[in-house]
Amino acid sequence: MNDIIILGAGIAGCGLAYNLSRRIGSKRIKIIDPLDRKKGLHNLRGTFHEVIREYNLPYEHIFKGVCFGDHRKKYLVVNEKLFIIDYNKICNYLLSRSNIKLIKEKALSLENNSLITDKKKYKYQYIIDCTGMAFFARRLLKLPLPKIYMYGNRRVIIGKIEPDEYVNFLSEPDGYVEEFYTLNNKILQGDWGISQKVDLSKITPRPYSFYHRIEDRKIASKEFVMYPISPVMPLKYRNIAFLGDAFGNATPSTGEGIRPILDSSKILARAIELENLDYYQNQWKQRYLDSYLKNLITKLDLKNRVSILKVLQKNTDNFIQMIKCQGNGKSKLLIRKLPKRMLFKYAFIYGWLYTIYSLSEYKHKINELLIYT
Ligand SMILES: Cc1cc2nc3c(=O)[nH]c(=O)nc-3n(C[C@H](O)[C@H](O)[C@H](O)COP(=O)(O)OP(=O)(O)OC[C@H]3O[C@@H](n4cnc5c(N)ncnc54)[C@H](O)[C@@H]3O)c2cc1C
Repeated sequence: MNDIIILGAGIAGCGLAYNLSRRIGSKRIKIIDPLDRKKGLHNLRGTFHEVIREYNLPYEHIFKGVCFGDHRKKYLVVNEKLFIIDYNKICNYLLSRSNIKLIKEKALSLENNSLITDKKKYKYQYIIDCTGMAFFARRLLKLPLPKIYMYGNRRVIIGKIEPDEYVNFLSEPDGYVEEFYTLNNKILQGDWGISQKVDLSKITPRPYSFYHRIEDRKIASKEFVMYPISPVMPLKYRNIAFLGDAFGNATPSTGEGIRPILDSSKILARAIELENLDYYQNQWKQRYLDSYLKNLITKLDLKNRVSILKVLQKNTDNFIQMIKCQGNGKSKLLIRKLPKRMLFKYAFIYGWLYTIYSLSEYKHKINELLIYT
């Protein structure tokens, strides 16, 4: 039997290597990545306690929770601990626990069930594309790419500010979101936008931004970043499956990637064990698609973000479930509280999104059938 080849050693590739090795052992699994990861504070990410507990992951800091609001007021304080992790560290940790050695090569093309890298050729049973924003196999196969992206300018700043035990996200009606938290005497600040088109003017600090309130401000480093927050079908095509940013796995609600990618990697590991990649796509859709689409609506209607936060202000119980894209907490809550005019609009957008997703999936199912016949 040929190998299962994972392309990409980010959280998707390493998480899958870990979960898959638990199911089928590590002998037949290969993971390939030329690997050139950034180092330092730009590598920090936040995740929730269930991920840390399940995988026993190392972490750098724990915040009391997350605050949401606009630049005038914080409307929502979510007291759910947020663990700050070093992305490289957790990827390496999961990979080392899978007992699979990383092959430092770059995938170049696919030909008759063989992968060609810059050094070698490998026969495979399955390719799992975890190449993130490189979209390696999706581009080769001319499959659609995710449509909506979070893009931002993130800075590590040295300066004077009151230490805060929360991570803050302040949104404005034009879609501008400012993120900031303090850690080890440094401030991590980011200006974010959400869109189908990158518009750099939308991610520069505003006159009212927190950024301007930092005294004796000195920017230690900054980076431009971008990743998808809308899933795209299909999740499998013939004997190739997609995981992580490679299909837009991060939640449209907050752009949280690590937890949903690790969860999806468990479904995919089971599908590979069953030798049935359709199982992966079907289970993923059953578990996530509805809540992802509902959250996506709020990203297509950015100017009402703050009004939605105000509606949710007194109803934090379901809010955590909602931002994690778990269950229907948000939709039920919103249906009860939103003005009728907004509800009609959202119902329409939901129907439209659902149709687009269903059509694109059927289109690729037909393509697959045509290729095999
Ligand atoms: C600045 C920023 C902040 C974020 N903050 C958070 C957060 O706080 N919490 C959270 O949960 N999520 C956060 N996210 C989202 C989350 O980090 C991503 O969704 C997640 O890391 C994606 O992982 P991945 O494995 O799919 O992709 P990546 O981590 O991008 O890994 C892709 C890998 O594929 C490799 N590759 C590419 N092309 C090839 C090729 N041809 N051959 C072989 N290998 C290849 C690359 O070298 C890379 O190592 C953030 C994202 C960004 C950018």
